[in-house]
Amino acid sequence: MNVRTAQVKKLRNLLKGKMVTIQHAADETLKDLRNHDENPPDFYDQATIETDRNINLLLRELDRQSVQEMDEAIQRIQKGTFGRCKACNKQISAGRLKANPMATLCINCKKKEEKESMRMAKSGGWSLYEMEPSDVW
Ligand SMILES: [Zn+2]
Repeated sequence: MNVRTAQVKKLRNLLKGKMVTIQHAADETLKDLRNHDENPPDFYDQATIETDRNINLLLRELDRQSVQEMDEAIQRIQKGTFGRCKACNKQISAGRLKANPMATLCINCKKKEEKESMRMAKSGGWSLYEMEPSDVW
């Protein structure tokens, strides 16, 4: 087995381990949510639990996304396209991949993308101050 294959295998195991951890955490969150349902709390507890629940759901959504990203990274490893920029098809630097194995863009394309999304946020973004008072009330 050459060095590259060994590295890829190591990374794949790492990603799989991470996926299991995340899925386990998501299961625990679900169990928590069910427990809350069994014991109806008073109004103020309810409000706190609502907030907790929203945060948990958000976290689960983020987890789901990272599991998907990892899954895609594993697929790229299997296809042999891992470490290649999906925009310009150049090799992503080893340092960047080490910091973020799920990276799909090289640093140049990533910078370009960030610039673009910042421009979009500025032109298309909304702000509370721009809303009519009737919208706020
Ligand atoms: Zn690129």
